Amino acid sequence: MEQSVLSAGEADVVIVGGGIAGLCLAGQLASEASVLLLEREGAVGYHSSGRSAALYIEPYSNWPVFALTRGSRDFLLAPPDGFSEVPLATPRGALTLAPAGQEAALDDFISHWQPSCPGIQEIGLDEAARQLPVLIPDYARRAVFDADVFALDTDAMMQGWLRQLRGHGGEIVLDAEVTRLDRSSAGWTVTTNHGVIRTRVIVNAAGAWAGRLGELAGALTVPLEPRRRSAALVAAPSGMSVDGWPVVADAAHTFYFKPEAGALMLSPSDATPTVPCDARPEEMDLALAVARAEEAAELGVRRFVATWAGLRTFAPDEAPVYGFDPLAPGFYWAAGQGGTGFQTAPAAGRWMAADILGAELPKDLCQLGLTREALAPERFG
Ligand SMILES: Cc1cc2nc3c(=O)[nH]c(=O)nc-3n(C[C@H](O)[C@H](O)[C@H](O)COP(=O)(O)OP(=O)(O)OC[C@H]3O[C@@H](n4cnc5c(N)ncnc54)[C@H](O)[C@@H]3O)c2cc1C
Repeated sequence: MEQSVLSAGEADVVIVGGGIAGLCLAGQLASEASVLLLEREGAVGYHSSGRSAALYIEPYSNWPVFALTRGSRDFLLAPPDGFSEVPLATPRGALTLAPAGQEAALDDFISHWQPSCPGIQEIGLDEAARQLPVLIPDYARRAVFDADVFALDTDAMMQGWLRQLRGHGGEIVLDAEVTRLDRSSAGWTVTTNHGVIRTRVIVNAAGAWAGRLGELAGALTVPLEPRRRSAALVAAPSGMSVDGWPVVADAAHTFYFKPEAGALMLSPSDATPTVPCDARPEEMDLALAVARAEEAAELGVRRFVATWAGLRTFAPDEAPVYGFDPLAPGFYWAAGQGGTGFQTAPAAGRWMAADILGAELPKDLCQLGLTREALAPERFG
């Protein structure tokens, strides 16, 4: 019988964190190295990765995020054979509305993103009302539609990379919390409640807890901030099918809603700084989401079908932190994915796998302007 890396007590690479960050790397690294993935919870994707809005939106955040998103597009639209039995990305579209006072924000959005994202088009209010039949007349002064927004199957993404990890002989251990990290000239000793493992490389894919794992390793202090985002599922307006609706948001990002399995997911687009935790929504935030969305559209929300919150973890410049730590050799940061961990995952996994193996960095991502320096933890040193 094949001996597992855990029972062997060593692996080339130990990845801490079984969210999308750890999984996309594990799947793409496992053909080149022995990989062990450790997750503290009893299932993968329990924290942020199980609570996302599952969208692919190119005009979002900053340039490194854009490059990683665009560099993920081909994979998401046409994944390799055997990766998933269902499509990973399906067209959804996004409608951005500018009510009075938000026209300048809409102009900024258009001028900043349209050159790189030609799918963004200003549309007339009649067309906006056709896209969103419950749009309240007089709410919006102007509207923009982006046809290049997709709904992602986040579960299929995680399962695909998990299969790849296992298919190459890698291992995942659940309910395994890393509690101590010790470095010697021979490498790292990782202490968990499942025993001790030796490795040359530790990957910090601990999501909201990445700062804490960095402290365990004696690594650079990367000022990561987890921010809570809340969401609720509500029934579709009476008698209406919402399946063909786009994602709807205002230009100032004070709310969004989108179709979700015949119902609507809505969020106040909150970003409340918090400590790493099993996030729960505040009633006030959910009430705000409903109030703001109902200023724009007649949704007739009566009650919540489900509510949840998750943590989006950001570095100060809101770009991800990918790279070896300058103070703790062999400790690799895979953190700070913010609100884009899924839409960037295929490219992020490729980039990090090449970086860890010391291979040539993906050419297409370099051509999009991505550099090691833009992502490196040293930028906070
Ligand atoms: C409401 C909401 C909407 C979002 N919408 C989108 C979207 O539309 N598109 C998009 O691309 N992204 C979206 N995101 C962001 C996306 O979900 C995150 O970027 C992504 O899930 C982060 O993944 P992660 O693996 O870094 O973190 P996590 O999924 O939190 O995984 C980290 C894991 O590390 C484990 N861990 C921590 N410490 C230890 C330890 N010491 N030992 C062992 N295990 C440990 C934790 O248990 C956790 O499971 C959204 C997020 C939220 C909350």
